[in-house]
Amino acid sequence: MEVKRTVPVKLDVPDERRDDLHTTIEQFNDAATYTVENGRNDDGHLILNKSKIHDRVYYDLRDRTDLPANLCVRAYSAAVEAMKSTVDDWKAGKSRPLPSFGEPSAIYDKRTLTIKDRSATLATVTGRVEVEYVLGDYQRSYLDDDEYERRMGTLHYREDLDAFYLHIVLLKEVDERDGDRVLGVDLNLKNVAVTSTGTFYDGGELLWGQNHSFRVRRSLQDKGTRSAKQALARLSGRENRFVLDRLHTISRRLVEEARSHDCSYIAVERLTHIRERMDNGNDRIKRQMHTWAFRELQDMIEWKAAEYGIRVEDVNPAFSSQTCSKCGHQSSTNRDSDGWFSCNECGYELDGDYNAAKNIGIRLLTVPEGKRPSGLGDGQLALKSGTLNLSDDHSSAEFRPEGESHGQAHDFSRG
Ligand SMILES: [Zn+2]
Repeated sequence: MEVKRTVPVKLDVPDERRDDLHTTIEQFNDAATYTVENGRNDDGHLILNKSKIHDRVYYDLRDRTDLPANLCVRAYSAAVEAMKSTVDDWKAGKSRPLPSFGEPSAIYDKRTLTIKDRSATLATVTGRVEVEYVLGDYQRSYLDDDEYERRMGTLHYREDLDAFYLHIVLLKEVDERDGDRVLGVDLNLKNVAVTSTGTFYDGGELLWGQNHSFRVRRSLQDKGTRSAKQALARLSGRENRFVLDRLHTISRRLVEEARSHDCSYIAVERLTHIRERMDNGNDRIKRQMHTWAFRELQDMIEWKAAEYGIRVEDVNPAFSSQTCSKCGHQSSTNRDSDGWFSCNECGYELDGDYNAAKNIGIRLLTVPEGKRPSGLGDGQLALKSGTLNLSDDHSSAEFRPEGESHGQAHDFSRG
């Protein structure tokens, strides 16, 4: 699998060359805008083909701007990409204006940008500019990793900081990890995350504390927005950073957990179902916020797992909290209001979220042939000690915990 990272690097631009970068960005946007305005066939349809766009606008762009040839190509290419996604939206019935290019940024590729370890050279309207990086540990760790190929970059001007940044795109090919072991993960409000190996990532109260919800709510009311994500993005203060830091830590530990149990897959619940699980007493704003946070957490897990070739798969979590992970019996009375699970059928008892985490993993292992992730094979679930192997025939949806001497068959078809 391909691992892609975009690393923002602050640039130390010589004073006398800052205007060259400003002008380059301005003209890049002008060229992209010109392409959108003029990139039409004689019948008025937008041209979405790069070689046809080239014929249409390239020489105009060379005349209109001082951009070097390859930045003109990048500018009309950016315009074509934006027009394509606009047309896709139109086809899907969404109304949307033609793309515009007002952001202070310009796209660079190998022909216009040379990325070195501690500096870069950028093409501009007045020849190349050499800039030094201003690096932190994070940036350095990626730039010093030889396995990453430095593909391209985007030059940004941050008005709030009066500084130029180069967002460097790095690519690494990682082999998918062999093996068929699965780590099941349950996401919930009490513990944030619980794994089938019995690790509890707690601190839900801290993470979703009253104070934080209140801030989000107030922010939503003040600014009249509809999305909690936007509200949280604007909460650039301490609390927002606290939540993101906490989610980063949890995701990093979860991936370490998967590695230490030799797992090649992490099973998580499909997020389209997460809202349904959160309607007990939570109001809309809180639900939105939790959904946002769980989505962030899953993205982070996927992001970090990819570096080790571990695949993250989502499964339908329906009834995973009501179903016994030992015998498969499903009942709403299996779990009490304190979150303790006690099976009506077989008497199995354990923490409810821990039980759900096992079920999430079992769900992936019982995905029918044809829909299963490639390489999963029969699969086995990682437990606190040892693994759970399901029966060879997945379609029977029966499994038998490994090492259980009484050899009970557990029927999951009722689950
Ligand atoms: Zn049971």
